[in-house]
Amino acid sequence: MKNRFQLALVIRGGAMNTVRTITAKSAAVIAIGLAMGSAAYLSAQELEPGYIDPYPILQAAREAIGTDRLNCVTVSGSAYSGKVGQQRLHGYEVDWPRGEPLRNYTRVINWQAGTMLESFDRAPGNNPASWKYGLGWKGGTAIQEETQQYFMVNGNYAWHRDGENGEAIASPPDDAERWQLDMWINPHGFLKAAMLPGANPKASWRWELGEMGRDGATVNPEKMTIVSITVMGKYRVDATINPQNLLQRIHTWVPDSVLGDTNYEHEFTNDSYIDLGAGIRFPTVWHSHTGWDDNYQAQSINAGHNAYGGQQRDIQANVCPEPISVPVSVQQASFPIQIEVESLADGVWLFGGSSHNSVVVEFENYIAVVEAPLHERRNLAVIDEIVRRIPNKPIRFLLNTHQHHDHIGGLRTYMHIGATIITHWKNYEFYTRDVLNYSPRTLDPDMLSLWPPTELAEGYQYETVRENYVLRDNKRTMEISYVHPLPHVEGMLVAYLPAEKILIEADLFNGPPAGQAMSNTGSAEGSNNENSSDAASARTLYNHVQRLGLEVDTVVPIHGQAVSWEVFMQAVAE
Ligand SMILES: [Zn+2]
Ligand SMILES: [Zn+2]
Repeated sequence: MKNRFQLALVIRGGAMNTVRTITAKSAAVIAIGLAMGSAAYLSAQELEPGYIDPYPILQAAREAIGTDRLNCVTVSGSAYSGKVGQQRLHGYEVDWPRGEPLRNYTRVINWQAGTMLESFDRAPGNNPASWKYGLGWKGGTAIQEETQQYFMVNGNYAWHRDGENGEAIASPPDDAERWQLDMWINPHGFLKAAMLPGANPKASWRWELGEMGRDGATVNPEKMTIVSITVMGKYRVDATINPQNLLQRIHTWVPDSVLGDTNYEHEFTNDSYIDLGAGIRFPTVWHSHTGWDDNYQAQSINAGHNAYGGQQRDIQANVCPEPISVPVSVQQASFPIQIEVESLADGVWLFGGSSHNSVVVEFENYIAVVEAPLHERRNLAVIDEIVRRIPNKPIRFLLNTHQHHDHIGGLRTYMHIGATIITHWKNYEFYTRDVLNYSPRTLDPDMLSLWPPTELAEGYQYETVRENYVLRDNKRTMEISYVHPLPHVEGMLVAYLPAEKILIEADLFNGPPAGQAMSNTGSAEGSNNENSSDAASARTLYNHVQRLGLEVDTVVPIHGQAVSWEVFMQAVAE
């Protein structure tokens, strides 16, 4: 690797003194190359079959858009947000749901300072305020109150402000890292990142047929070069560069609890570049995918793809606002895993302390857990606490309420410890193909990817439910049923414990945050709902209870505290 890099310097600089250490092999190659007076010959000698010299390609691309003269940029216009993982149903031609439009959208990237600011106007209401677009839809944080939203990145820190004077809310490390990565996943950012130490560029070529639908009939292939670099020491990012030396598609993978190494890309078209003077050009149309861009489910069942995009025609080059400094509260923020256990009945516990709960139910010979939300770290901590309280009893079942990604980040964790997953049958294909699979996870390996169990190949780790399913032994009964029709999601299950008169549900009704009474949150609307149909969802739950003739004393939500049936009824009445 090192030899190739040094050799490239020699070719471009034409001077031997840029090479500090020369191995015998590379020195010999250089000598031959100089003797023949051919740089192309030099490259051909050093490159593996299929590879080409990346440096002339990068140089031509930098010159085509004036990258060396651009230190910072401000782009303004409009954008849209895609709610990754909040699809009502996965399937053919199903996209991520569109969030509210992002109006007065502005992005300021200062590559020299390593900072990025995004601001936009979005209708206040049910969104968690800390959510921007794409991955990162977790719920559980405060509801957005102001219209103006600010998202900042400086180095490894990222934070959010709800309104211009809102307090700085530190973003969790995975969001901060992805947002930092975004600074480099655009044409100028990529070309600058390619010059940084450790970028280690490599290039190849291919004939590209383009995209059915976007590019029409795919009969005229275009010869493209692809340059791959390493960004932030970790992410392999590649750019497709067309014959006009313009970066068209910039692609990488990001880690995700549900989907593993996830396709993540920004796309730019030739005709969207505008001239900013001094040879600087910048694209005005951004289009971004999270997940494969496969409308027709060729690669994945969860075919959602469009996660962000917009038209930003107002672009200013080298007008760099004052630097964004990291607030002390953000520098000091930590994200510990907190587990607070509350006894709901004999052998029934609420495992809270976070935006999402799990409910643990002890049977005579095994344990059943309702919900594996968020991410593996959370679920491993919950499992450790279960084992401390009830040693030597297997966690035999994990009941999954629905397929929203914030509720299934720990499915693989329960598979790892040997639990059978109870889920609605409509989720089976998505989970089998996209979630509970043997695909390697290289960016953030989890237990299942590190120690893939043999049961996964056998496929008997599911119990799929159509209408009703019952877990029963000498000690206890849990009745599981399918809730519909429901705008929030397809394939929703709830669990009912008849002896304890407890109903466990997700997203149909959210309890008040820990330490608050229901009245403090007004109605269900103030308690971190994931969409605007929460009143309708609560009525659906009420109708479901009536139809099945369930006697409920306590409603135990996956979001918020448990409440009595009376409190639930008041919320439904409002
Ligand atoms: Zn949901
Ligand atoms: Zn939820």
